[in-house]
Amino acid sequence: MSLRVKLLKWLVIPLLAVNLAGAAAAYWLAWIPAQGALDQSLADAAWALVPHVQETDSEIELRLSQQAEQVLRVDHFDEVFFVVRDLKGRTIAGDKDFPQLQIPDKFNTSLPYTDMMRGEDVRVIALKTVVAGHTILIGAGETRIKRRQIRFRIFLTLLISEIFLAILIPLMIWLALNKGLSPLREMQGNLEQRKSDDLSALPVENAPVEVTPFIVAINNLLTRVQDSARAKQDFLANVAHQLRTPLAGFKAQLEWLQAHHKEDPDTARSVDMMLVSADRMARKANQLLALARSQPGDVDRSAMELLSLDKLLAESVQQFVQEALKKNIDIGFDLQPTTVLGDRFLLRDLIDNVVDNAIRYSPVGGTVTVSCMMKEGGGVLKVEDDGPGIPEADKDRIFSRFYRLDHSQSGSGLGLAIVRDIAHEHGATISVRSGANSRGSSFLVLFPDPPQSAPV
Ligand code: ADP
Repeated sequence: MSLRVKLLKWLVIPLLAVNLAGAAAAYWLAWIPAQGALDQSLADAAWALVPHVQETDSEIELRLSQQAEQVLRVDHFDEVFFVVRDLKGRTIAGDKDFPQLQIPDKFNTSLPYTDMMRGEDVRVIALKTVVAGHTILIGAGETRIKRRQIRFRIFLTLLISEIFLAILIPLMIWLALNKGLSPLREMQGNLEQRKSDDLSALPVENAPVEVTPFIVAINNLLTRVQDSARAKQDFLANVAHQLRTPLAGFKAQLEWLQAHHKEDPDTARSVDMMLVSADRMARKANQLLALARSQPGDVDRSAMELLSLDKLLAESVQQFVQEALKKNIDIGFDLQPTTVLGDRFLLRDLIDNVVDNAIRYSPVGGTVTVSCMMKEGGGVLKVEDDGPGIPEADKDRIFSRFYRLDHSQSGSGLGLAIVRDIAHEHGATISVRSGANSRGSSFLVLFPDPPQSAPV
């Protein structure tokens, strides 16, 4: 379940409930004084009748001019009623059908309540007083249209503010949560954008206090993983390095055997096969060493020097001549003076892998062309062959580790991954396209412009 949804639930539901309770309280707090004010004006009207109640011939009567009665009954919204009664309930003046009056406990006090008259809800004020020794009851009543309108207005105002808040509160909380969770999102982005071998620490500086321990724990883990990866890499480099010397001796011995047993076809064939296997092992050992050396981030850029790419290419191709001859492959050169800033050993690994591939994947009697030149942007290295080529869909994937297309050739699928790592460590880009006349493949490495000084 999403933390955001959880927090939203924990915050929004109680907040909306509190807000609703607040709205109910606000409704009553607004309505009670409004009702009090309206009751008071009705009571004032009832009290205004008292001076007009007089005694004539020991009888109590209400002397009210017609205009005065009209003034009393005029109301813009409601119908107004009044009645003057004695304690026995006899009507002295006013509306005869006025409902029976509730009698206030004390004299000269008014009692507000709600009743029914002529089939309608009415608000009534009843008061008890004494006029010329006679106890009289006066009732003033009015329909409740005005009151209903006021209540409705209070309700509507609160409803609108409630709807507004019900939308605004979750929205504000959502925005606040998003802002609050942004350090986690940043961390996720940082981790997602990394290359698989980037184990550098996550930034802690701007992280909030709550997230810092979490980042520190991840960084500790990253350091441990990095240490163990480095230990494995050192081990790999060591083993590969240790293997190369005995293998070279082994190959030399086999070549000696080959030279001395040319006449015996069985032995010659067997030694040939052993030499192929020894070559394969040497290749694997070289690749392992290159893999261990080319780990991104581990290359010491300050130790890079200005190198002559054409010389490195010439040296490299030299060691493949024998193999090319066996397959009757025509190796062509176009080596123009080209300077790049780099690591000699890594660049040799890069060149060896690409040239080795071109020869291995080319058919018998094929052509491989190795060229380099200086262009405006920097040094360019090109190795072209007329082999099977790389299908469009695989042109990126062949640079992934262990990705192989042609399983009929021996190989590990590591060569081009190493080549790509080395190219990136040199700030270079590598790409593959179809060779001349849309046949075979052409591997192109573009180096950045080197600083201006003489190559070594
Ligand atoms: P490996 O050669 O050990 O299989 P690489 O990483 O060097 O591994 O190459 C990956 C795959 O790319 C190879 O398996 C092969 O199918 C394809 N490939 C590489 N170079 C060439 C080439 N010059 N021509 C055709 N296919 C190639």
